[in-house]
Amino acid sequence: MDGARRRPLVVREGPACGALVSSPGTETAFFRRMPSSSRSGPRAGSHSAADPDTSAAASARAVHRPPSRTAARAILRERFGHDDFRRGQWEPIRAVLGGDDALVVMPTGSGKSIVYQLPALLLPGLTVVVSPLISLMKDQQDKLIAHGVDALAIHSHLTDAQARTVGEQVTEGAGEILYLTPERFKDREFFERLLGRKVALFVVDEAHCVSQWGHDFRPDYIVLGSIAQRLGRPPIMALTATATAAVRSDIERQLGMRTPKTTITGFARPNLRLEVRRTVNDGIKDSALEEIFTRAEESGGAGVVYVATVKEGERLYERFKEQFRVGLYHGKLAAAERTATQERFMSGGLTAMIATNAFGLGIDKHDLRFVVHYHFPGSLESYYQEAGRAGRDGKAARCTILYRVEDARVQQYFLGGKYPDVHEAVKLALTLEQHPLGERVSIDDLAERAEVPRRKARIVLTLLKRHGLVREYRGGEWERLRDRLTAVDLSADLTDYEERRRLDRVKLETMVAYCQSTKCRTRTILEYFDEEVEDDWSCGNCDACDGIVVGRRRVTPAGVALAGAMGNSIA
Ligand SMILES: [Zn+2]
Repeated sequence: MDGARRRPLVVREGPACGALVSSPGTETAFFRRMPSSSRSGPRAGSHSAADPDTSAAASARAVHRPPSRTAARAILRERFGHDDFRRGQWEPIRAVLGGDDALVVMPTGSGKSIVYQLPALLLPGLTVVVSPLISLMKDQQDKLIAHGVDALAIHSHLTDAQARTVGEQVTEGAGEILYLTPERFKDREFFERLLGRKVALFVVDEAHCVSQWGHDFRPDYIVLGSIAQRLGRPPIMALTATATAAVRSDIERQLGMRTPKTTITGFARPNLRLEVRRTVNDGIKDSALEEIFTRAEESGGAGVVYVATVKEGERLYERFKEQFRVGLYHGKLAAAERTATQERFMSGGLTAMIATNAFGLGIDKHDLRFVVHYHFPGSLESYYQEAGRAGRDGKAARCTILYRVEDARVQQYFLGGKYPDVHEAVKLALTLEQHPLGERVSIDDLAERAEVPRRKARIVLTLLKRHGLVREYRGGEWERLRDRLTAVDLSADLTDYEERRRLDRVKLETMVAYCQSTKCRTRTILEYFDEEVEDDWSCGNCDACDGIVVGRRRVTPAGVALAGAMGNSIA
């Protein structure tokens, strides 16, 4: 099956999103925008891509003329030490400086952070950056402080006293950039402080977490659109390393973005060798892994082995821990143990981390020489995000899937447990209704009594919260605010989940098709992400390309399997 035929160009339609869905060609919508006079505030008029600073746009901005590219470059040089913008950086910067929204799809390591850090220094006011991971924001904060930028971060790793200090700094008008997790907005005292500030830019990093079609969906992300409103609706910039058309339009909708300037660039990673090895059983997979570990220990490179389940991770860890320097990482380990293993890995003490997908979002290790998928993940974007952690230093690295067709079942199992259906939503709402008004109840309690998995219960409660029916407290406690919870119409939201389930199945099929395909793997991925590719282009650095070179006569699945095996000895 040809993976490219399944490009998910589906833009969601239906009652839940109708008017706010962007057209498939975001650029077109961008140019057709409403004139600036119909909007409030000192927002700029439409840009022209060719000539941003002339004509009506410039006069509309006469009062608040945004900094020019020259001025921005000067700051880029002075504060960040870069001579010029990389491809795709300036366009979104120009958009937010001019008061518009911007959506940036750029792989990690291609200079994504500059895109919001630079406007933060140029715009008068505070730039608020929502980031899903504390390790990520700490890392960014350290780097910014080193560049002399007044960067604040508030998160759960701070002591109460430290958090109070940051809160006071916010009140006093300190800070050019403030990093926080989405959960932090629930802290009312802190939010009041924030309301006292002029927020110049609202940034959502790892924005696919906003999207109900994103693989890292986090319920706390879905209220960010209304938070931006409360903060005076500054320009919104959403950044992600991975977003299909469906995810992009969902990010726009969830955040209430106004025809954002969309930039998609930089998905090709020439230094990554992508390969899929067909394996018929775990014995063969284990031998392949042993070979990879041996080679890695000889050459001194380190990498990650992704598994789908904790159980499989434990099995592999037991199997290899005497023979190789391997670590184990998954979400069920105690926090201290996770940190210790991660630090050992980061400092070069391990050849391989055997891990579930809990490992990685905040990993800033640039010299990974391999990423192996012992099981393939549920979508091509998850795959490329995980595989893309290899070779960030630009040197050669190998990304291998140990493919076995039966592994699709593991992913299908996960799909079944992801989203609540109508029955589960009703069960949970009825259980909560039995609980007295004004009293808090823990989510674990509710989930257990309703016999709904906790993860799904959390989604239903978040939907109810969005409708103003419940209030959430820290520590997983919830309070019912009204009677007759089931009277509210959640059908649109739940229909979304139906659609989401369907799309998840399509994504999984695309992932399987990728594994079985004989077409250039990089090409398939670029097409999947809507990056433009020339007709006759292929990467020359994947097992499928080997197949074409090695045996033109037999580009069949069997031929590719053979070429893949040969490729290992060639490369
Ligand atoms: Zn290729």
